[in-house]
Amino acid sequence: MLTLDGTKGEGGGQILRTALGLAVATRTPFRIDGIRGGRERPGLLRQHLTAVRAAQAIGQAQVEGAELGSASLTFEPRGLCGGEQHFAVGSAGSTTLVLQAVLPALLAAAEPTSISIEGGTHNSAAPPFEFLARSFVPLLCRMGARVEVSLERPGFHPAGGGSLHARVEPSGAPLAPFELLERGEPVSRRARALVAHIDAGVGHRELARVTQRLGFTSDEVELCELPDSPGPGNVLLIELAFEHVTEVFVGFGSPGVRAESVADRTVRQARRYLAQGLPVGTHLADQLLLPLALAGGGAFRCGPPSQHCRTNAEVIEQFLPLEISFEEQARECTVRVRTR
Ligand code: ATP
Repeated sequence: MLTLDGTKGEGGGQILRTALGLAVATRTPFRIDGIRGGRERPGLLRQHLTAVRAAQAIGQAQVEGAELGSASLTFEPRGLCGGEQHFAVGSAGSTTLVLQAVLPALLAAAEPTSISIEGGTHNSAAPPFEFLARSFVPLLCRMGARVEVSLERPGFHPAGGGSLHARVEPSGAPLAPFELLERGEPVSRRARALVAHIDAGVGHRELARVTQRLGFTSDEVELCELPDSPGPGNVLLIELAFEHVTEVFVGFGSPGVRAESVADRTVRQARRYLAQGLPVGTHLADQLLLPLALAGGGAFRCGPPSQHCRTNAEVIEQFLPLEISFEEQARECTVRVRTR
């Protein structure tokens, strides 16, 4: 049985999620101690526990330690089933991160899967739904996966109650290795302000600021009011589409924070990405490692890799006979995944 140290590197929830996905996909049992040992509130939170339960159901696994607050877990997968799956975080915890934990396994399932996950769909420190739909999933599909995601109902912190749906079809072949070294020519750009149960003026002000700072036209901005959301929320999304990749940047509105500040923060992220001239942004970098690992190879160019990304690479190397190298020069890095 593989043993993992949850305090290693960044010491966050990613170590567990990557381990769950790869354990089921490769039928490798593991034990992890010191879960989220690098975080202020260590142990399994609801989002992580839901990921464990989802991976348990999909991997027909024998599990010990699946309790809120638990710092240790043993996980022994016994199979791999798709079919109809439904999970609820039971709080506003991130649904996209629960999907992240089980998607590697579902890509390897022999039958189609229809999975819905209830909780938050737009959480800080997690991929917002649009990042999944516009950035990550299209790249997976380019590698041969057959995945569709849809937002059934938005859910924001603290009310939650959102719902994310994914359909995964067997593709009949492993993912194909792929390289993302250039982003190509610009194709389109747009900004969307999501507002749920708050004054739509907040979204209008965010969009006005984006228009002013990035020179977007009125066709490139959109206000989306979300009456279906169980609770209030506000998110600003800036999407930059290039020939080979789309990146999505997000800013979260919160009480006491001016709409213009939310816009400025989001614009800064987009400007940094535009100035770098590299295809892969910080978050996409750590998330692309897993598909490339499942494909057995590939490469991409990004900025200086985050500790999150390096920690994820170490966990992947424990499960698969791969070498993940970070070739850094000046302000950029080429990440390569090769078989050992
Ligand atoms: P903790 O580590 O506290 O347990 P966690 O389990 O919620 O937290 P992390 O381990 O920090 O999560 O992982 C967060 C994941 O969310 C990473 O894959 C990261 O790339 C992704 N992510 C965070 N913010 C964004 C964003 N703005 N856009 C896309 N992805 C994001």
